[in-house]
Amino acid sequence: MLKTGAQYIESIKAMKPNIYKWGKLIEDVTTNPATAAHVKCVANAYDAAFDPELAPYFTTTSALSGQTAHRWNTLMATAEDVAGNAHMKRASYWINGSCTGTICAGWTVLNAHFGPSARCDAKYGTNYHQNLIDFMKECEDNAYGLAGCLTDAKGNRALNAAKQPDKNAYLHFEKVDGGIKLNGYKIQICGVAGCNYIVVMPTTGFGPDAKEFAVVAATPRDSEGITIVETRRPSDTRVEEEGWDGIKLGTTQAFIIFEDVFVPDKHVFLAGENEFAAQVLGNFTNIYRAAIGSCVGGQGDLMAGAAIAIARANGLTQKAFQDKLTNIVMVNNITIGLGIGAIMEGHDDGGAWIPDTALAHTNKVQVGTIPYEAKRLAVEIAGGIVETGCVPSYIDMTSPIYGEKLMKAMDAGSGAEDRIKLTRLMEWIHIGGGVPGCMHGGGSPDTARMLVKGATPWEKYVNYAKKAAGIPEDHLVEVKK
Ligand SMILES: Cc1cc2nc3c(=O)[nH]c(=O)nc-3n(C[C@H](O)[C@H](O)[C@H](O)COP(=O)(O)OP(=O)(O)OC[C@H]3O[C@@H](n4cnc5c(N)ncnc54)[C@H](O)[C@@H]3O)c2cc1C
Repeated sequence: MLKTGAQYIESIKAMKPNIYKWGKLIEDVTTNPATAAHVKCVANAYDAAFDPELAPYFTTTSALSGQTAHRWNTLMATAEDVAGNAHMKRASYWINGSCTGTICAGWTVLNAHFGPSARCDAKYGTNYHQNLIDFMKECEDNAYGLAGCLTDAKGNRALNAAKQPDKNAYLHFEKVDGGIKLNGYKIQICGVAGCNYIVVMPTTGFGPDAKEFAVVAATPRDSEGITIVETRRPSDTRVEEEGWDGIKLGTTQAFIIFEDVFVPDKHVFLAGENEFAAQVLGNFTNIYRAAIGSCVGGQGDLMAGAAIAIARANGLTQKAFQDKLTNIVMVNNITIGLGIGAIMEGHDDGGAWIPDTALAHTNKVQVGTIPYEAKRLAVEIAGGIVETGCVPSYIDMTSPIYGEKLMKAMDAGSGAEDRIKLTRLMEWIHIGGGVPGCMHGGGSPDTARMLVKGATPWEKYVNYAKKAAGIPEDHLVEVKK
């Protein structure tokens, strides 16, 4: 089923209020300034299904139903499907200027668990795989937006889940009649305000002493027992302002408190079979870290465009900055291309396509590193007006006392207003929304480095070198110390 943006907004409006910000309950997330911009961005992604140019990015043919569906409601069965995810994320930046959390992580969880859920059923006689397929069809039939929750509060990072003094540091379940109950904290979750369902999965692998933390399940965002608190970010009061200071873009992050949240069996996809926690996590990170290259690539496209536009607003031409602009685009191309390479080198896991581990995780380290260079270059092109608050507020710029003179001071040849608006956009892109999704979104670079290390055949490489140098294979063998 395809929904328009307006139909999607109606589905979110109909949900029970359980989201707070600034200490107050948000009665309607579709209109409250703290959350409305995100909901609007998600609505734009729904509307994209009906735009002939954008529809190939935002829709596809569902492998489960054979029908046209919003891309984020489908099984990614082939490399092409996962590449479609990457391209959609890039296009989301084109239409929204922002990450669009509700069409990202939850969808990835369902795909990541496709293979592991079937293996779990084969081993334990559970019914998780069919539950998962049924839920994926339910998502498609209702065109749900989904938030994905891996990240637990985690407490003391030096202790594992079972050793935490407060068990709620990791989401955990207990079996009850007809389903499970969830308790604990999931934090820093993207796009919750705009989702219909929350999908939870483990943030790490678990041993047999931690079975109660090995849970994959889906629950409506407004389920009894869920309290959501929107986080704050550097630009959040701006989003709530009138005029050009209030850039109306952006995803949102949230902390989620689960207190005895009942999930019926049909929406439980793993509950206690701890050895599958690491499998779903591995698949998740491979998909996510391959596709995130295109998120930051889309952000880079916007940055290059904004840098050219502000150069023009400053009275200059693209030509004056061409080397820097080409470098911005090459940064984008590295993360996009590496992600697509990871996808093409992937493998089938029981019907879902999983990108290559070493390449996907190398990409995660890149997206936590090189986009900062693109941002630096864009700020260098734009000038001091985008740096650490160098332009007066909308209220001052429109003051009846001195506004006219300030506007004259901001006019670099083509009028002040465009220049100010671009200033606010560039502030938002390079610092105002935080550092969107580059460093820790999708997991820390260090965990990615560990996976690259684990996926690399080091001894093979040593043998290639020995052969090339004419050294017998039994020489220079590593002695474990
Ligand atoms: C923009 C953004 C969007 C996000 N969206 C989502 C989302 O939609 N869903 C979701 O589930 N999560 C989301 N996250 C959370 C994200 O997945 C986590 O931030 C990430 O996994 C890192 O976890 P952490 O922040 O708890 O860092 P920490 O675990 O506190 O790590 C901090 C540093 O310590 C290192 N470290 C941690 N433990 C150890 C240890 N035992 N030994 C040595 N070093 C250690 C890490 O490698 C890292 O360098 C988002 C984050 C961001 C920034």
